Amino acid sequence: MECLFCSIINGEIKADKVYEDELSIGIRDINPQAPVHVLIIPKKHISTLNEITEENKKLIGHLFFVAKEIAKKEGLAERGYRTVINCNREAGQTIFHIHLHLLGGRLMGWPPG
Ligand code: 5GP
Ligand code: ZN
Repeated sequence: MECLFCSIINGEIKADKVYEDELSIGIRDINPQAPVHVLIIPKKHISTLNEITEENKKLIGHLFFVAKEIAKKEGLAERGYRTVINCNREAGQTIFHIHLHLLGGRLMGWPPG
């Protein structure tokens, strides 16, 4: 099965990578919805949040840890930022390899659309 994010992780497709460790990468979103819009993606292919299990649940915490580190580096820690995981159609998930959106650099509305 072809997966865009797996192709980015294995280097077949280029991306603006801002972070990498053994478990995850951070790339700038190709269609940014805020001045800072980074996607934090686990290297392991997991399609949606529904597929999180006892075995891989720590990975989700890791994604948030990475988001916090990138937010600090981008100067967002004190200003504020938003982290989002879309799950399935009604949330607007379009890429079925789980990813955490980190959005910041502008005032966010609430509730989200
Ligand atoms: P989702 O809608 O699944 O939560 O988020 C998918 C995100 O991936 C969207 O914000 C979209 O702009 C972004 N995206 C789609 N294709 C690419 C790509 O080829 N490169 C990068 N960097 N981001 C992409
Ligand atoms: Zn994948």
